[in-house]
Amino acid sequence: MIFRYASWMTDELSILADITRKFFQTEFLPYVERFHAKKKVDREFWEKAGEYGILAASIPEEFGGAGGNLSHDSVIFGELGYTGDMSFGLFVHNIAVHYVLAYATEEQKQRWLPKLASGELIGAIAMTEPGTGSDLQGVRTSAVRSGGEYVINGSKTFISNGQISNFIILVVKTDMNHGAKGISLVGIETDGLDGFRRGRNLDKLGMPGQDTSELFFDDAQVSAHNLLGGIAGQGFGQLMKQLAWERLMLGIIAVGASQKAIEETVSYTAERHAFGKPVLEFQNSRFKLAECKAKLELLRAYVEKCIGKILCGELGAEEASIAKLTGSEIQGEILDECVQLHGGYGYMREYLVARMYADARVQRIYGGTSEIMKELISRSLMS
Ligand SMILES: Cc1cc2nc3c(=O)[nH]c(=O)nc-3n(C[C@H](O)[C@H](O)[C@H](O)COP(=O)(O)OP(=O)(O)OC[C@H]3O[C@@H](n4cnc5c(N)ncnc54)[C@H](O)[C@@H]3O)c2cc1C
Repeated sequence: MIFRYASWMTDELSILADITRKFFQTEFLPYVERFHAKKKVDREFWEKAGEYGILAASIPEEFGGAGGNLSHDSVIFGELGYTGDMSFGLFVHNIAVHYVLAYATEEQKQRWLPKLASGELIGAIAMTEPGTGSDLQGVRTSAVRSGGEYVINGSKTFISNGQISNFIILVVKTDMNHGAKGISLVGIETDGLDGFRRGRNLDKLGMPGQDTSELFFDDAQVSAHNLLGGIAGQGFGQLMKQLAWERLMLGIIAVGASQKAIEETVSYTAERHAFGKPVLEFQNSRFKLAECKAKLELLRAYVEKCIGKILCGELGAEEASIAKLTGSEIQGEILDECVQLHGGYGYMREYLVARMYADARVQRIYGGTSEIMKELISRSLMS
């Protein structure tokens, strides 16, 4: 279990952790090679995840969910990281769910949440554009009101779940004359939407099983009822408020993945012999793994504290940024050591640590780069 000793852990959450681990072991990991080859996860797998309640842990029961909260999501994301495979784009689906939970009108919640819980709708969040990533205020995708509809034009890139999602939280400008105040979020149901097109499924350094795509909108018309929360110009504030959970989630995944990498490397070095003894018996191997373990335990303690704070509504932006920055940096350092301790086999994709090493690199880039995290943390020093 990833968060066994956390102050917020309960028997119910322990059971959820066990069930989730079994689910990933039996329903996900045996199929990842197929997902890698197809460059996306099967829709049937999403529906199965829906049946197990994995897509809807924090959706209230009245909307078809399991009625949990962020502690349930945290346990699930710890286990997702521990699979060592990032094909399943649950984190962006979960982000879409939390936007709907936090900001949607009652009618929107009724319309979207039950389908997001079952997997009938697969979620994505589309902020990044070819011309702007870190600087969100610079988005150019426009949504112009025309009667009862918005007409959307623009393009997005690097969108996780971009090929398989059919529900996108789209970041648009409803007022091109304003920066942050002109930004709104629109919930887009893509099935049968004229003027919407998916571009390439992008070829990445890692995460081969996860679809990351371009999206294009050419005079796509959606009902004005799809504006998230129903009031234009609130998107930037909505994005900022959700970022704490999004960043913490990446820190949680880093804990699970780092634990998996260390366990994998202990097993490998115990079996692999050099100079007549297991590689694990060299002092260097034990010391390197000891350093990895020490880093992991410090990270785990910090992330557990942050989860406790977000459950009370007290997690600050800088703490979430520290969890994301430190989590992704430590995950990268640990994976680098684990590859080294595997020798040449650590560079071969048939070994888990090689794939995890490639997957880990993006953790320092998406969800806000390490540099942006440092910018945010440094602001708290000066206030
Ligand atoms: C695999 C993958 C999946 C992704 N999934 C999604 C998704 O689902 N939805 C989505 O909207 N986006 C997604 N992204 C996009 C991701 O969030 C952006 O790539 C990221 O925010 C950085 O933006 P950028 O690529 O435009 O880099 P830029 O903003 O151009 O940054 C380039 C460099 O400049 C640095 N920099 C920028 N501004 C500053 C500053 N103020 N101070 C110091 N340094 C700075 C950055 O840190 C970086 O090193 C994904 C990206 C990848 C690679």
